[in-house]
Amino acid sequence: MKVNDYTEKLYNRPVAQCTDREIYYSLLTMTKDMAGEKVVNKGKKKLYYISAEFLIGKLLSNNLINLGIYDEVKKELSEAGKDMNVIEELEPEPSLGNGGLGRLAACFLDSMATLGLNADGVGLLYHFGLFRQVFKNHLQNEVPNPWMEEKSWLTRTDKTYTISFGGFDVTSRMYDVDVTGYDNRTTKLHLFDIESVNESIVPRDSIGFDKNNIRENLTLFLYPDDSDDAGRILRVYQQYFMVSNAARLILDEAKERGSNLHDLPEYVSIQINDTHPTMVIPELIRLLGEEGIRMQEAMDIVRKTCAYTNHTILAEALEKWPIHFLNRAVPALMPIIRELHNAVAETVSDGSTYIIKDGLVHMAHIDIHYGYSVNGVAYLHTEILKNTELNNFYRLYPDKFNNKTNGITFRRWLMACNPELSGVVTDLIGDGWKKNADELEKLSGFVSDENALDRILDVKKEKKKQLTEYVRRTQGIELDPESVFDIQVKRLHEYKRQQMNALYVIHKYFEIKEGKKPAQPITVIFGAKAAPAYVIAKDIIHLILCLQEIVNNDPEVSPYLKVVMVENYNVTLAEKLIPACDISEQISLASKEASGTSNMKFMLNGAVTLGTMDGANVEIADLVGKENIYTFGEDSETVIKRYECGDYVSRDYYEKDESIKRAVDFIVSEKMMSVGRRENLERLYHELLNKDWFMTFPDFECYVKTKDLAIEEFGDRRTWAKKMLINISKAGFFSSDRTIDQYNKDIWHLD
Ligand SMILES: *Cc1c(COP(=O)(O)O)cnc(C)c1O
Repeated sequence: MKVNDYTEKLYNRPVAQCTDREIYYSLLTMTKDMAGEKVVNKGKKKLYYISAEFLIGKLLSNNLINLGIYDEVKKELSEAGKDMNVIEELEPEPSLGNGGLGRLAACFLDSMATLGLNADGVGLLYHFGLFRQVFKNHLQNEVPNPWMEEKSWLTRTDKTYTISFGGFDVTSRMYDVDVTGYDNRTTKLHLFDIESVNESIVPRDSIGFDKNNIRENLTLFLYPDDSDDAGRILRVYQQYFMVSNAARLILDEAKERGSNLHDLPEYVSIQINDTHPTMVIPELIRLLGEEGIRMQEAMDIVRKTCAYTNHTILAEALEKWPIHFLNRAVPALMPIIRELHNAVAETVSDGSTYIIKDGLVHMAHIDIHYGYSVNGVAYLHTEILKNTELNNFYRLYPDKFNNKTNGITFRRWLMACNPELSGVVTDLIGDGWKKNADELEKLSGFVSDENALDRILDVKKEKKKQLTEYVRRTQGIELDPESVFDIQVKRLHEYKRQQMNALYVIHKYFEIKEGKKPAQPITVIFGAKAAPAYVIAKDIIHLILCLQEIVNNDPEVSPYLKVVMVENYNVTLAEKLIPACDISEQISLASKEASGTSNMKFMLNGAVTLGTMDGANVEIADLVGKENIYTFGEDSETVIKRYECGDYVSRDYYEKDESIKRAVDFIVSEKMMSVGRRENLERLYHELLNKDWFMTFPDFECYVKTKDLAIEEFGDRRTWAKKMLINISKAGFFSSDRTIDQYNKDIWHLD
């Protein structure tokens, strides 16, 4: 297959005479054609991974790599005087996810295709995605992110359904994206849209719109603002639309494969990704009822078909919808949900597990009672679910609970984003690791090989230079590639504790002012979007952006300390930042981060983790050993006890610890007020002083000490390179190929 054939066919010109955009469209068409020709698994049983988010990232280079033609194409283009990197820049990133949960779904699709499983993803086609983050006056602004173009990876299908809500119907249409596996088959991501969607009801420069106009707004945004009832009920409409389409598709396809629906569990497994797709359970029961299957049998069928993944123990994320929302949006489901509730109430005495309580429908409770598997996403997380958070359910159904530690696809998170390091790894141990990640272990044979260690250091320096160039070009900030790149990129949330990192920056600022220079110059890099209605999270962004201005413009400080917050953090930026990282910040309050996956991406790219014993950090620490990770802070048991006692008083720490006081006071200092907004800074100051719900103060001293140690040890380049190498060599466990293989063996049982 030659790119030239496509440019000739589409534009009547050879590659050399085409614009970059014409080449991009030619590559897009060529890749779609090639994916379409690949073999698809047509096994009897099929898995449907239903998720409100699929944060798939750009697809061009990933698809070319998985189809095995990346190098060829790059060469053909360069011989025609064209630069692959420039063409990759033209592709807009699909905005179909928010953070880790959506990225996980995307990594899983890649692994399902690579393992050749009969498995598709099902979700929604959000026209404006989440939002695009724009910084103005050191504040986050949200604007629509119209990422869909005339020509794209989407293929319009003929599949349409009529979906009925309370009082009106909409017509849906399915769009498909091919998911290419590495050196293997393809699967599909099915995205549903409404035919009556109307983009023009959204102004160009804000994400406000008429939330009541469901017929036109249903698929405009992912997670519309839920600070009012109209926004919250819109989410119910979206969720039902997603699962009703999914359920119809699943039943249609099962019948095509020969199911008589009574035997549905032999033909189908459904993975419910967090609680957003929960209504697929009552919806399937309803549709089976329309096919003549009675309630009792339908309940049995779904109980053998649906499996649920829990992603968080944060109470606010466990969805509970008021009955009156459901009655209004999806009245046909409410009688079925009541029956589900009654059936539980008849057999279970523990009222805390009931589905309907105080006028609220507890979505996770539906999943646990009516699914056959409940899994957490890291060892520690699953233990907390079993022993604490979902203990009442665990005692009812001990056999349903299982752990599936998250993973990442190494095709995107090493081969595509860091071809330099991939090349060195392949030179050292061959390329078996690309399909069997455990082979990375072979790298441990090189811990004393000076030449191998030098090559790894050289790659890191090169990636830091590339990032430096990018930050100069896009943000106008000059970085020092010799400094320690300390990176925290993830959604902005208080439990992830970006505020603790910001307090460290203030602490260093004062030390440098006093003449106490750090062991190495430090570059602290942040990237994070805050939910539009999450006030404190947006205040933390404001704090970081103000610090960026103060620190970088202070000639006494900036040679030793720089702060950068990249705008609109997304997959494309992650692919540039992660390979350039020295220290990976994973500092969530122990017990709160279910798994984390950026911790795995960083490790794979030779960064050393600075983290709490939380989520998958625990497993990373186990694998690499304490020499090769920097851990600190209270452990999850201590934290859980603190919450039980409810005796944490942040002000006590503030009053006892001079350096905490100095850092926190700086937030409302004259200097900060001169660049920032009083309202935001005072609100954040009071939040920390009077609440600090995620307990940054108790961990602060230890955090500073541990981080300073890491920065000092960075100076011993030989020893540091060993740490990098060990981290890469132990990353194999975190391949999503391993995760998906475990899902299949333990939960899905596809042939
Ligand atoms: C991997 C990834 C995440 C998840 O990061 P965590 O640190 O695990 O929360 C979020 N956003 C993007 C763009 C990612 O690539």
